[in-house]
Amino acid sequence: MERTLSIIKPDAVAKGVIGKILDRFESNGLKIAATRKMQLSRADAEAFYAVHSERSFFGDLVDFMISGPVVVSVLEGENAIAKNRQLMGATNPKEAEAGTIRADFAENIDANAVHGSDSAENAAVEIAFFFSGREIA
Ligand code: GDP
Repeated sequence: MERTLSIIKPDAVAKGVIGKILDRFESNGLKIAATRKMQLSRADAEAFYAVHSERSFFGDLVDFMISGPVVVSVLEGENAIAKNRQLMGATNPKEAEAGTIRADFAENIDANAVHGSDSAENAAVEIAFFFSGREIA
């Protein structure tokens, strides 16, 4: 049993597809152990994406992540980290396999609908960034 952090990004929230995306998780064996809609502050977004702070797209990424509310969730299940990445599709929606969340709901690499932890180590850090232990059940 594994846990991973998912973020439904501002583009997908604005499109009104929160329910459709959460359904992809539940329909594919991932349980929603915690979830919250929230507005990230600039400091939140900069801290969450600190690993990318030296990249050319960092400023655009932070601006985008605070452009509207997001939905943060803890997903739980067997191989949850890899399964979520598979359901998400490639970072660039134009390269995402048909039927993935990014192929179906994302426009471009800036506004790509979802985030998902990419390793067990990052999942633990990212979950703790948003949720306390008693909010996860
Ligand atoms: P992910 O794990 O698939 O989300 O991809 P990464 O961890 O590599 O990148 C984090 C986020 O930064 C991506 O989801 C994109 O929103 C953004 N990003 C990554 N690469 C680029 C890029 O080359 N240009 C722009 N504008 N954004 C990017």
